Amino acid sequence: MHIVVVGAGIIGTSTAWYLAERGHRVTVVERQPDAALETSFANAGQISVSHCEPWAHRDTPLKALKWMFSKEAPLLFRPQWPLGEGWQQYRWSLRFLGECNDTAFHRNVGHIVALGAYSHAALKALVAQTGIDYHRLERGIAHFFADQAAFDGANALAALMQQFGVDRKVISTGELLRLEPSLAPFSARVVGATFTASDESGDACVFTQRLARHCAAHGVEFLFGQHLQSLELASGAVRAVQLQALAQPSSVGASRLAADAVVIACGSYSAPILRRVGVDLPIYPGKGYSATFPILRPELAPSVSVIDDSRKIAITRLGDQIRVAGTIEVSGYDLGLDSAVSQARCHMLARRVEEIWPGMCDTRLPQEGGNPKFWTGLRPATPTNIPYIGQTPVRGLWVNAGHGTLGWTHGAGSGKALAARMAGEEAIADFPFLGG
Ligand SMILES: Cc1cc2nc3c(=O)[nH]c(=O)nc-3n(C[C@H](O)[C@H](O)[C@H](O)COP(=O)(O)OP(=O)(O)OC[C@H]3O[C@@H](n4cnc5c(N)ncnc54)[C@H](O)[C@@H]3O)c2cc1C
Repeated sequence: MHIVVVGAGIIGTSTAWYLAERGHRVTVVERQPDAALETSFANAGQISVSHCEPWAHRDTPLKALKWMFSKEAPLLFRPQWPLGEGWQQYRWSLRFLGECNDTAFHRNVGHIVALGAYSHAALKALVAQTGIDYHRLERGIAHFFADQAAFDGANALAALMQQFGVDRKVISTGELLRLEPSLAPFSARVVGATFTASDESGDACVFTQRLARHCAAHGVEFLFGQHLQSLELASGAVRAVQLQALAQPSSVGASRLAADAVVIACGSYSAPILRRVGVDLPIYPGKGYSATFPILRPELAPSVSVIDDSRKIAITRLGDQIRVAGTIEVSGYDLGLDSAVSQARCHMLARRVEEIWPGMCDTRLPQEGGNPKFWTGLRPATPTNIPYIGQTPVRGLWVNAGHGTLGWTHGAGSGKALAARMAGEEAIADFPFLGG
């Protein structure tokens, strides 16, 4: 069977790997010149199987309202012009509000934990099989709190997560410092933490690009610089993809690629692509930011990946660099870094690294003579935080998209699970696959 996978982020590349392993002929179509140059490029690097709560929680609407006027808010809703694609923001937000209750939260956590456990096992096996090196650190994730009320809430949440089989421990500031001594300069402001020993970290972009090379060595064809223009259907089934080479004028760069099956793994762009063939999935971009700094003094740097609860940001060591990432802006498909909001968010990331690890890196802003690498990416968010993996009502058209905050964590498992579903197999028991 010839399968075309559209999108070479962590999700599309993992899907291509597992499909090729099952003996299919696989072609990956990607508009960028390499794999992982969009959302999978500079994320927080956490494999956070045990830190996986959905955004939609009964307290979120009130918090989001309070945050609406703060440029640095962890979650910021910026209303779009309610026409065209902008209307999708309101539809998505209403469905998100529908998930902000205890029943939905518990149900969603259960499904996310199931996918996370499956994916972690898949990632470990894939790394053992391929030997891919991606600045992996198996040191766990520590989530620290500077606010007592927030820490009290974390105790209750840890107990809930333990009910789902998640190994999340509540620890004192002293225990946190034993695990991660580099936090000592900031420790007077920490009231406590949680720790998930089995979580890990690593560079999603490095991993994905290396996996793409392994895929190519196993016969997967990559068509880079090719934009999917449309899906060609006949008698309720997908027959081909229409492509446009980005380096060429439309008159000469257009081509048609016939396929027995097509997998859409285009992150946030999956929703508008699928709507054009009548498949309506609530996937909407959640803009996030990261900053990456070379480490100047390795003796001051962490090796446990951490989450700073008061800013809702994650900080991870990736080789000789530190990556700090976070915040969510529900503001359409804009990737810009220049607006006042974007600038405030980037500056907050840099400031916070300096507050927690003074002198570890040069966190000066460009206007101060520094050279931070600021970046934005669009998390493909669903109201539940559960991705869409499975079959659409169009025969031969499959989806692997909507991984939101956890696409790196769920990458290997999502690829493996979709390949299994395409072969008619079960894959994960407690997971709501698209198409049943
Ligand atoms: C700031 C931030 C921090 C994050 N931190 C973490 C973390 O610590 N842990 C974690 O698990 N997850 C994290 N995530 C989430 C994770 O990065 C995403 O869920 C994941 O990268 C999504 O992967 P994807 O393959 O679906 O999308 P992408 O990586 O965006 O890949 C989709 C691909 O499709 C291509 N494409 C789109 N449209 C077309 C078209 N028409 N034709 C051809 N190609 C097309 C794009 O070019 C792109 O390469 C973070 C995200 C952000 C933004």
